Amino acid sequence: MRNPTRRDFLIGTTALAGAAAVSGPAFSNAPQQFDLVIRGGEVIDPSQKLRGIRDVGIRYGQIAAVESSIDPSLAKRSIDAKGKLVTPGLVDLHTHIYAYGSSFGVPPDELTQYSATTTYVSAGDAGANNFSSFRRQIVSQSRARVFAFVNISVIGLTGFPVGETINIKYADADATARTIAENQDIVLGAKVRESIAIVGENGIEPLKRAIEAVELSGTKGRVMCHIGDAPGDLQVLVNQLRPGDILTHPYSSLGNNSVQNGKVLPALLEAKKRGVIIDVGHGAGSFNFDIAEAAIQQGLTFDTISSDISTASGNTPSRPYFPWVLSKFLALGFSLEDVIAAATIKPATIIGKVPKLGTLQVGAPGDVSILELIEGPVQLLDTANNPRTGKAYLKAVLTVREGVANGPPYQLPFTVN
Ligand SMILES: [Zn+2]
Repeated sequence: MRNPTRRDFLIGTTALAGAAAVSGPAFSNAPQQFDLVIRGGEVIDPSQKLRGIRDVGIRYGQIAAVESSIDPSLAKRSIDAKGKLVTPGLVDLHTHIYAYGSSFGVPPDELTQYSATTTYVSAGDAGANNFSSFRRQIVSQSRARVFAFVNISVIGLTGFPVGETINIKYADADATARTIAENQDIVLGAKVRESIAIVGENGIEPLKRAIEAVELSGTKGRVMCHIGDAPGDLQVLVNQLRPGDILTHPYSSLGNNSVQNGKVLPALLEAKKRGVIIDVGHGAGSFNFDIAEAAIQQGLTFDTISSDISTASGNTPSRPYFPWVLSKFLALGFSLEDVIAAATIKPATIIGKVPKLGTLQVGAPGDVSILELIEGPVQLLDTANNPRTGKAYLKAVLTVREGVANGPPYQLPFTVN
């Protein structure tokens, strides 16, 4: 099969017309048991080791049934997902979605047609000084589900191209702790970017302050620490991370990273052993096929796959839109189940704020992603533009958040979260 063109990739919602046939409300007096039924797709839900053709029924915004067949007369609306994959709504643990208020945020609802993502985690787009704006302008107004890490720098990512912690006075543990504590419903902890270009002379002081902030906050929050061209000894840096903290960009080929001279640094493997979460964070410069392979072979496996999508990374040839990033792990030999688990149940468990998020279990939020697995040789690029040939790739078709499709069939009356 031919390789996808950029147009194929960006076709987004127009793919819907040919891809997932939809039908509107059936007006009848019969009792309607389901607001929406997604019919005939191949359901993959790693949380319950489920893979098979199923109908998924959603009622009142929650998964109400996953059955081999649901009587069509019980559905107010249906989506025909035959020939498609149906997964729990994808959860992307590392994204940049503070459009209008930071340097490289993409509006999450514009992204969804390419990302097939229903839950985005903002990786430190906002800091203490602008978090309330992020909350009002993005979190409240997005149809997507949004969580966030608060940047240890009070300016968040507004300083670009100047590193947000190059002036250490911006790294304010007290203000960050307050912001974390005040926004516990959506905040997972503090974000810090530990690259020499971002921290300048300040070494690991921003990381130390991020840890201090989550501890001061009293929330048991996590620190998400970005690595890649680290200041000083990377092992000293990584040794600071606590169980449950998140290390992002482990497979970067920027200098001073996890793999040096072909070997994973022992501190990285020790971190993984003590419960530090390894998050891919593809981004514009942080995913290299050879490094990923070497690291994984030596035990530095990932817990979560994430895109690190932004207005910067989204314009690179490596195109880190979420299904495309997942496809790169298929090309590395991971199974569809492994890849979907790393983009659903695993990040949802780390978020830990919504029962059954990342699953299609009865009672879970009615968040669903419909994807197409397009078979045939496909060329994928890493962030250094090295090619790999995969056997198939994933393409976004449609998402549903709490039972409401991101497009037709429209909810009547139209309500979202
Ligand atoms: Zn990032």
